[in-house]
Amino acid sequence: MFPRLTCFGGVGEIGGNKFLLEDVGAKVLLDFGAGFSDGSDYFDSSIAPRGVNGAGDLFEFGLLPEIRGLYSEKALQNTGLRYSEPEVDAVVLSHYHWDHTGRIGYVDPKIPVYCGETTSLIHDAYSESSGSPLDEHPIRRFRTGDRFRVGSLEFVPVHVDHSIPGAYGFVIHTSEGTMAYTGDFRFHGPAGSMTRDFVDEARNQGTSVLLTEGTRVGPQDAKHGMSEKQVLEEASKLVTGSRNLVFSTFRGNDVDRINTFYEACQRAGRRLVVSMKIAILLEKLKADKRLRVPRVGKDVDVYVRRKRSGKLDDADYYPWERPFLGGGFNAEMVRKRQGELFLHLEAWNFPELIDIKPAKGGTYIHAATEAYNEEGEREEEVIRNWIDHVGFKYAQLHASGHAPMEEVGGLVKDIAAKKVVPIHTENPEEFKAFDRKHSWRLELPKRGRPMGLAN
Ligand SMILES: [Zn+2]
Ligand SMILES: [Zn+2]
Repeated sequence: MFPRLTCFGGVGEIGGNKFLLEDVGAKVLLDFGAGFSDGSDYFDSSIAPRGVNGAGDLFEFGLLPEIRGLYSEKALQNTGLRYSEPEVDAVVLSHYHWDHTGRIGYVDPKIPVYCGETTSLIHDAYSESSGSPLDEHPIRRFRTGDRFRVGSLEFVPVHVDHSIPGAYGFVIHTSEGTMAYTGDFRFHGPAGSMTRDFVDEARNQGTSVLLTEGTRVGPQDAKHGMSEKQVLEEASKLVTGSRNLVFSTFRGNDVDRINTFYEACQRAGRRLVVSMKIAILLEKLKADKRLRVPRVGKDVDVYVRRKRSGKLDDADYYPWERPFLGGGFNAEMVRKRQGELFLHLEAWNFPELIDIKPAKGGTYIHAATEAYNEEGEREEEVIRNWIDHVGFKYAQLHASGHAPMEEVGGLVKDIAAKKVVPIHTENPEEFKAFDRKHSWRLELPKRGRPMGLAN
C-alpha cells in the first residue's frame, strides 16, 4: 500500500499543484496551489465563493479535496467535514507562485510549511504588504545541501531555475525507493545551471519515479522562445532608442526580469522606477547574500501613487508604504523627467497614466505571457486600448519560466526513472513522444486516485 501518491490538482492542467504523498507514518502535501482556471465554470467576476462557507463552496465543485485532518477550523465552519486534529504532517513548498501556494490559507495553522530560505523572505514581503497564504503557519526553512525528514520520508531539496527566486525540486527517499518532484523549472534563465544540479542529483540518487511539470509540452509550443538574455538585448535596444517615457508591465516577483530591466537602464543611462510592492520585496531579499538585487533608493526609485486624500500625506498610506514616500517619484515628477525613466506599471495601475500625461511616441513593453485564453485576450485588448490612447508603441518581450518541450524530454531522459508521472501540463499524453525506446513507463495521474510508488 505504501508509499503512495494522490494528485488532487495539476492533473491535465497547468498549475493547481496539490499532491498528497503518504508513507509509513508520514503524510505530506507537495505544494497546495490554486488552479489558474479553478472554478471558472461556476464562478466569475460577479459570482464568488462565499467566505462564510469556508472551503465549503470549493468542496462543492471538487476544487479542494475533502481530506480529514488537513483544514483549519475556520475553513471547515459551515461545511459537512468535521474539524479534527492534524493528520497531515507538513506542506512542502517548491516555490512561491500562487498556483503552488494559493490554497495553503485553508490548511490548519498547526501544520508546518517547509520552504526555501528565499521563499520565506518573499513570504515576509507579501505578509507585510498584502498578506500571504503562509501567514499563520510555522515555517521551516531549507537550502540546497540540506536534508530533512518527515516520518519515513527524507527530502533532499535542490535549487532549480524558474521565474521567481527560491524555486526547488525535491529528491524524496521513501520506504520503498526514491522519487523526484521537479516543481517548475527552466534551463534558459540566468541560473539555468541550478536546474542541471537538480537533474544530476535526481539521477545520482537513483530516482525510480519522476513527477515532472510539462507546461510547454504539447503541439503548440513555440520551440524557440526567448531567453532572459535575449529579453535584455531587445529591451536595451528599445530603451536606448527612445527619447520618451518607457514603461512596462511584468510580474513583480520575477527578480530576473527586474535585474534585466535594471541592466537595460544602466546601459541607456535611465532610472528604473518600481512599485512599492516591488520595493518592499527588494528590501527583504537583501538578506539573501547569494541573490543579486538592485538597491532601493540607490539603484532604483519608487513610484508613489496618490491615495485617499490625494495629497501624498503620510496618513494616506499603510505603515509599510511610508518609508518609500520620501524620495519617491509621483506622477508629476515622472512627467517632468519622462525621457530619463523606465517605469514599472501593472495593468491595474494604468489609470496613473491619466496623471502622468506622457508625451506621445513613448514605448510600452508587455513583458509577460501572451494571451492564451479568452479572458487573457480581453485583458490584452484593454491594455492595447490604453497604449493607443497614450500614443505609445507596443512591444512584446518575455522569457518563459518553463522549459520548452524538447528540454523537458531531455530532463526525463537524463534522470532515467522507471516511471514518469506528468503533472502541471494540459497534454500529459504527449510525454509518449519522449519514450521512443520504451525504457520507462508513463503513468497518467487521475485526479483524487492514489497510485502506488513501489516498483
Ligand atoms: Zn506552476
Ligand atoms: Zn511557478
